[in-house]
Amino acid sequence: MTFNDDARLDASRVRRGGRGGTGIAVGGGAALVLFLLSQLLGVDLTGLAPTTGEPVEQGTDTSLAEECRTGADANENVDCRMVGAYNSLDDYWATAFPRLGGQYVSPGMYLESGQWQTGCGTASSAMGPFYCPPDQSIYLDTAFFDVLTSQLGAEGGPLAEMYVIAHEWGHHVQNLSGTMDRLDRSETGPTSDGVRLELQADCFAGAWAQNAQGTEDAAGVTLLEEFTQAQLASAMDAAAAVGDDHIQSSQGGRVNPEQWTHGSSEQRQRWFWQGYTDGPSACDTFGVPGGDL
Ligand SMILES: [Zn+2]
Repeated sequence: MTFNDDARLDASRVRRGGRGGTGIAVGGGAALVLFLLSQLLGVDLTGLAPTTGEPVEQGTDTSLAEECRTGADANENVDCRMVGAYNSLDDYWATAFPRLGGQYVSPGMYLESGQWQTGCGTASSAMGPFYCPPDQSIYLDTAFFDVLTSQLGAEGGPLAEMYVIAHEWGHHVQNLSGTMDRLDRSETGPTSDGVRLELQADCFAGAWAQNAQGTEDAAGVTLLEEFTQAQLASAMDAAAAVGDDHIQSSQGGRVNPEQWTHGSSEQRQRWFWQGYTDGPSACDTFGVPGGDL
């Protein structure tokens, strides 16, 4: 159990299958590049996991708010857990972001499956979870959590799942703060701006995890119970599982840092922990020399 059974969920900004087939205009080249930098992984998942499952019926979701009412629902059901994660992250960043000097805007969140349209172009489950800057929205297929455990070898669990959302929320914070606009997108490799952006998103995820137990529903009821050491370890384990070196070797390839887009397992864990221990103001991955990244 992770969520307080009695907490009330607010599903008003989370949609399920809501953007499919609607023919939204595709963003420009810059939007596409930022989108590629905003994924959880730097790889196409089609090679990691076969496409399975029935595509959800698109554009028909109205049931999420009825299905996901309480923290007990979030403990039972992965879609409701995503709603609960949304509520906790939104509550945390609504307070933390203004302290960093910006004006906070809540992102959108879409639970999708198969193929769908976004402001960053046509998306699919094979892309893994991502944030689309022009939409200010997080997209994911929760089937990714099975890939995380079965293909990438993570132990999984509720906090590992919420780490994934918290990472994408970190990209939203970077979009709001203007960090995404200032990137040097010409370089690649282990000290590139792209890797710095990803490690900062992990650090922001850690900052949320430290403060998650203080987040509340609209009535002031605590959303989450205190995380156990085992749950925290599962989040760190997930951060390691999505490290570039781990993915390269688990796909049977050679570990090649020049192709890294997100950072190694060790880096992703270390920056998550940096945020966890020292908060979002300690997440300046752009200010450290390459050797300390
Ligand atoms: Zn990312």
